[in-house]
Amino acid sequence: MVAETFSPEETFALAKKLGRQAKAGGIYTLTGDLGVGKTVFAQGFAAGLGITESVNSPTFTIVQVYEEGCLPFYHFDVYRIGDVEEMEEIGYEDYFYGQGVCLIEWAERVRELIPAEAVPITIEKNLEKGFDYRRITVG
Ligand code: ADP
Ligand code: MG
Repeated sequence: MVAETFSPEETFALAKKLGRQAKAGGIYTLTGDLGVGKTVFAQGFAAGLGITESVNSPTFTIVQVYEEGCLPFYHFDVYRIGDVEEMEEIGYEDYFYGQGVCLIEWAERVRELIPAEAVPITIEKNLEKGFDYRRITVG
């Protein structure tokens, strides 16, 4: 699926819809440059899972856990990860192969750990179409 959005609110709404449809054990990877809207997407996705607390990039913790929604939500941001061993140290397998939903920002940095069934999501800008334009590819 390819969608186009023209504001952060539209990206939030699209992600919210996907969050609502997420199933236990689902893994989603989020790829795109810094400032493209990955965290906006994660916020909408969390809202779709029924999470009301604020979701920010868990830059210094690798993973942030939210348990108030209809499914546990594991929000990863692996931008600053130095080595995949850091993923092992935090016990990533419990999240990836658990009963919650994982959303992984900068997943390409831990590519070898991502299960084949993960749903890839890519967000891209196209400045010719405007500063707030985003092309979002799911799957
Ligand atoms: P990332 O997590 O990819 O580094 P953020 O989600 O933190 O990026 O920031 C995205 C920025 O882009 C925000 O300031 C947001 O308001 C802005 N923005 C503008 N247009 C869009 C859009 N269509 N979708 C998402 N974010 C947008
Ligand atoms: Mg971010």
